[in-house]
Amino acid sequence: MSVVILSDVHANLPALQAVLEDVARTAPGAPIWHCGDVVGYGAFPNEVITELQRVGAIGVMGNHDLAALGDNVIETFNEGAHAAALWTRDVLTAESRSWLRALPRVVEMGAATIVHASLRDPIMEYVVQREIAEENLRVLATPLLFHGHTHIPALWSLQDGVAHATHVGTEAIALRAGSLVNAGSVGQPRDHDPRAAWLLWERDELGAGLGTVTWRRVEYNIPAAQEAIDAAGLPDFLASRLAIGR
Ligand code: ZN
Repeated sequence: MSVVILSDVHANLPALQAVLEDVARTAPGAPIWHCGDVVGYGAFPNEVITELQRVGAIGVMGNHDLAALGDNVIETFNEGAHAAALWTRDVLTAESRSWLRALPRVVEMGAATIVHASLRDPIMEYVVQREIAEENLRVLATPLLFHGHTHIPALWSLQDGVAHATHVGTEAIALRAGSLVNAGSVGQPRDHDPRAAWLLWERDELGAGLGTVTWRRVEYNIPAAQEAIDAAGLPDFLASRLAIGR
């Protein structure tokens, strides 16, 4: 019994396609959940939505999805993100817009809650400090939270009332109740590893216990993503950062 968790695809079609190929090899038929920021930054917003629809992905709204729908969250964006959000507003089809608009901010799936940013603030809060992790863990009603937003794989868990960060590599990690699991980013990783990230959650056949999580990293055609960003007239920084994973 496996679940695939994707986050922060950011309109990067080559990255999403490479991830879905790896998913088909590693966890064929597993349900796919996403943690938002489907669009923004990248040049393939409609195409990634079509792909996520095709695989039946269930997920939530991110700050870049909201911005693409016209929300004034765009005022919090830096120059590159702002330019990309305005461009995305222009190119989104009516079908894409209505798919994005239907995304909820919080989804509960059995033992897990799914949000984009944090439980307290599903759209904007970055879980990067112990205090913030701890405050979110205290209000977590399900054993697990899957999220994204920082574009950096991470695992925080509550031990004796204190939030601990577990080092995340490529090996499977057993989950304990009371954990925040950040899936990293498919389309714009920022942990100095440019490969697309996705998360595999594996439980036993009966779904007893919380099982393990494994972060997978996948090479993809970065020049194809960069050329599309350039061709769309988006800021060069959005293309160049993909090669360095920053
Ligand atoms: Zn993002």
